[in-house]
Amino acid sequence: MSRRYVEVALPPPLSRQLTYSVPVDLVELVQPGTIVLVPLQRRLVTGFVLQFQTLADSPPEPGEESPRPLPQAAGGQVDGRRLRPGDVRDIAQVLDADSPLSPEIVELCRWMAAYYLLPLGRALAAALPPGVKLTSRRLVHPLSGGLPPALDGDDMAGRVWEQLAASGSLQVGTLKHRLGSSGLEQALSRLRRAQCIDIRPVLSGSKMSAKQQQQVRVTDMARARREMPELQRRAPTQASCLEYVITHGATAKRSLVGRGFSYGVLKGLGSRGLLETVAQEMIRDPLAHLETDGPEPQTLTDDQRRVLDPILAALDSGGFFPALLHGVTGSGKTLIYLRAVERALSQGRGAIVLVPEIALAWQMVRRFKAHFGEAVTVLHSQLSNGERYDTWRRLRRGEQRLLIGARSAILAPVKDVGIIIVDEEHDGSYIQDDLNSRQPFAYSARDLAVVRARMAGAAIILGSATPSLESYWNARMGKYRALSLPSRIDDRPLARVDVVDMRREPFQGKQRALFSRSLRLKMRERLERGEQIVLLQNRRGFAPAVSCTSCGEAVRCDHCHVSLTFHRSQGEDMRCHYCDYRGPVPRICPSCGSTEVRLEGVGTQQVEKALLEQFPSIRVIRMDVDTTGWKGAHDTLVEGFRRGEADVLLGTQMVAKGLDFPLVTLVGVISADTGLHAPDFRAAERSFQLLTQVAGRSGRGERPGEVVIQTRLPAEPALVAAAGQDYESFAEGELAQRREAGFPPFGRLVCFRWRGPDESSVERAARLGVQRLKRQEGNWAALGPSPAPLARLRGEYRWQALLLGPVPGELKGAARDVLGDMREVADGLGVSLAVVVDPQTTM
Ligand code: ADP
Ligand code: ZN
Ligand code: ZN
Repeated sequence: MSRRYVEVALPPPLSRQLTYSVPVDLVELVQPGTIVLVPLQRRLVTGFVLQFQTLADSPPEPGEESPRPLPQAAGGQVDGRRLRPGDVRDIAQVLDADSPLSPEIVELCRWMAAYYLLPLGRALAAALPPGVKLTSRRLVHPLSGGLPPALDGDDMAGRVWEQLAASGSLQVGTLKHRLGSSGLEQALSRLRRAQCIDIRPVLSGSKMSAKQQQQVRVTDMARARREMPELQRRAPTQASCLEYVITHGATAKRSLVGRGFSYGVLKGLGSRGLLETVAQEMIRDPLAHLETDGPEPQTLTDDQRRVLDPILAALDSGGFFPALLHGVTGSGKTLIYLRAVERALSQGRGAIVLVPEIALAWQMVRRFKAHFGEAVTVLHSQLSNGERYDTWRRLRRGEQRLLIGARSAILAPVKDVGIIIVDEEHDGSYIQDDLNSRQPFAYSARDLAVVRARMAGAAIILGSATPSLESYWNARMGKYRALSLPSRIDDRPLARVDVVDMRREPFQGKQRALFSRSLRLKMRERLERGEQIVLLQNRRGFAPAVSCTSCGEAVRCDHCHVSLTFHRSQGEDMRCHYCDYRGPVPRICPSCGSTEVRLEGVGTQQVEKALLEQFPSIRVIRMDVDTTGWKGAHDTLVEGFRRGEADVLLGTQMVAKGLDFPLVTLVGVISADTGLHAPDFRAAERSFQLLTQVAGRSGRGERPGEVVIQTRLPAEPALVAAAGQDYESFAEGELAQRREAGFPPFGRLVCFRWRGPDESSVERAARLGVQRLKRQEGNWAALGPSPAPLARLRGEYRWQALLLGPVPGELKGAARDVLGDMREVADGLGVSLAVVVDPQTTM
């Protein structure tokens, strides 16, 4: 047999691809995705197999193209030369043949790395269950009851088996220590092929020991049946307990006790020898304790029918089918998801349901669980590493086919995906924006979902009440099928929205009041009626804008039209962080000529203080970065509010998400302007989405809801549209502006971010970097560099630059061409550089 070669990706911090050869005894275990241990110089490192490779056996003629791009080095030995068999080192070990990366996922990661300008190893590392890091240690688990006849007389295999039989799972290192290393790997291979053992990597930092559970089972069925009548006379409770175990099979002690059989009863049955206790490995099912909801409605509304039919038809005929489901809050989108997933599963295919945050999606998980039972599995950050690894492997083997999870679930190895749902597709949580790690990277799980669906020939439904303009535009252009659910089920009314013009509010002392008369009045009513209030102060942690108290306009950049941000320095406090315009804070408002130009931004703490002054006995739960710094804080605060422990839930935009309290009949937005003034071209879109979502959440219960939005910009289109819950008119106006400026969806952006401890080096790296970019010709513009809106963060200085142009390929080509150069410059200055393709926020 000719030798086989594979390309192996090494994860960060190495992030390289190298070629290795596969020793004959490992050939059957290796495929794309397999996790292997390979020699690199004098160490052994973990890597992922990418693909099989062929090596040229003669050196190339000058000018001859090689069949595929050659890796830079093999086994750390060869640099830049064409590889020949003699140069290539062997894979040392297969760490996990049944690895959690499937060939499809490797393919998706390739796309991801190319698109987002990432090292492939980085992309692959992201596709491992989150939190799981591989070490080079391996654990051998015994599987079957004994050695099969085929291995009779296999001395080494026999000795390995003896060890496992005596001790249970053992690390390869331990086996080596006890039995010597000669012939051990080969014996392990034979045992694995005979399905006697399973070899997995030891996960660092996780408890891999399986959870054990005390179960009881019937010792001897025939005897139990025989003795039953006698037992029924003498110990009726014991008899009914025994009966339960006979009909239900082995049962956890705890669940029997939960059913009212005491430990005494169990003990009695034990001493009669009728039941025995066994320790059973528990399948860790994170959903085991989830209570489920009642059944879903059986009949679809006409609108739902109209939306579902084309989806089912697409599933039946197979192939890529991307659709945007634009449906207002409460229009019955979830039922569409359920029916579509049901169809895919019945075809034997898999399904992925992405939600922005699992913590806020339990309602949805419950509905899926009620519908599909055991088939559902979830992935979220509260699972232990072991649980995630198990889930990944179960999916990989096709033992579970329906996965609900947050953004990283899009990289999970669900088998043969037939449908992908992305709920609340506009949500910023789908953006992985891990820019502070050592090897920063960013991607959009929503966009990756579309790519995965295309690769798998699957249907994908992007659902939202407020679709992102990118998706909306794709639907308009016919790239996605446009599906819509325009009204709520039963025509339940949406909340009434009252927009209050704060410029007309009277002064209180020197300042205008924080709460308008209308909001105060409505709050008082709620307090008297014992209903609840949610107050939103949408203030993100960015440097504040400067705006006019009289007309409400922010001071904006003449060139880029984004709000200028305030950075305290001498004379040039206002900066545009797109083009780096700098200027003083104007003394008179450029829009209306008034002199009331002020630094903006009232924090949640100030709002709380003002609340307590107005309503001394009011009970407030405050939710912002300061009060949610600990694990579980979010849930605890929200649950406290749900139980009625406070009259008001006050917070930043985190109160707007997943907010579903039946007793809330009033939502107040203290100032819609901060969001509108965010220094980001998506500021209006974000504000529209936030306000629409908030408005959609008041009055979810029996009592009708009201919303008060306070603003100095009552005529701002995003606000007017949100008040009227009018997506179309918002989209029309906003798209026209984007087209003019060349911003997405009409143009694409690549953002470069430099950061480091020394301000002048960061600036220098950024300036030199942009020089490199500008040296290239192309149909795009390089904006900046300029200090990032949060110019100083955690002791580091941050600068950024943007590349903007209409043709994504050209833009990225330009970025790719100079990236290495830019990195080198930055490295030399002790500055780190991150590149973000399609940045969701430029803040
Ligand atoms: P969305 O996901 O669009 O916010 P939901 O799917 O949660 O909306 O539906 C809102 C409410 O309407 C839920 O209580 C749901 O049970 C109910 N509902 C959905 N479809 C139907 C239907 N066809 N008949 C009756 N009630 C329905
Ligand atoms: Zn003004
Ligand atoms: Zn500018």
